[in-house]
Amino acid sequence: MTDIVVPGNALVVLLGPAGSGKSTFARRWFSETEVVSSDRCRAMIADSEMDISVSARAFALFNDILRHRLEIGRLAVADSTALTTLARRDLRTTARRAGAPVVVVALDVSLRTCTARDAARERIVGEQVVARHVALLRDALRALPREGYQAWHRLREEEIDDAVVRVEGRRPPVPVTPEMQEAYVREPWRRVSR
Ligand code: GDP
Ligand code: MG
Repeated sequence: MTDIVVPGNALVVLLGPAGSGKSTFARRWFSETEVVSSDRCRAMIADSEMDISVSARAFALFNDILRHRLEIGRLAVADSTALTTLARRDLRTTARRAGAPVVVVALDVSLRTCTARDAARERIVGEQVVARHVALLRDALRALPREGYQAWHRLREEEIDDAVVRVEGRRPPVPVTPEMQEAYVREPWRRVSR
C-alpha cells in the first residue's frame, strides 16, 4: 500500500497521460473545490474541454486559481497531465512563490490501458496523443527525483486502487461570524481582501 502524506497547504500535482485516471483519483481523495482542472478551465472559457485554441488562457486561469488557493494556505490539486518539464516548472514556481510544498503523484499506467479508457469515453483524445503522453511519462519519471519536490510518488496501474492519501493539517473553511454576515448584508459588494 502506498501512503501518500500531503501537508494541508500543499500543491498536489497529478501527473499522467490522458486516460490514466487523474480526475478519478482527484475525485476520490479531494473535495471538489480543492481540485483545479486544466480541462475544466478550457471549458469555463470556451465551453469545451477540447478547445485547445484557448489553452494559453486556460493555463493562465488554472495557474491563477492554484496561486490564489496556495497564497491563502489552502490545499490545491493540479489536475493536468504535467508531463512536460515546462508545465512542471510553472507549477513549481507557483508553489514556491506561495511558500507551498509540492507533492507529485504520477500515475504510471500503460499505453494499452490509457488508450482503451480514452476510446470508451465521450471526450476522446486519440491513440496518437496518448502514445505521445506515455513517452513523455517515461521521461518525467526519470526527471522527478531531481526536480526537488517535498515528495513524489509513482503509482503503477495495480497500485492506484490501494494507495491512501492522508492530508495533514488541512485548513477548515473560515467560519462565518455574525459580523461577517452583517457586513455582507450591509455592503455585499465590499470584499475584505487578503
Ligand atoms: P484522466 O484523463 O487522467 O483524468 O482520466 P480519468 O480519471 O478521466 O479516467 C479516464 C477513464 O478511465 C474514465 O472513464 C474513468 O472512469 C476510467 N478510470 C479511471 N480510473 C480507473 C481505474 O482505476 N480503473 C478503471 N477500470 N477505470 C478507471
Ligand atoms: Mg482528467
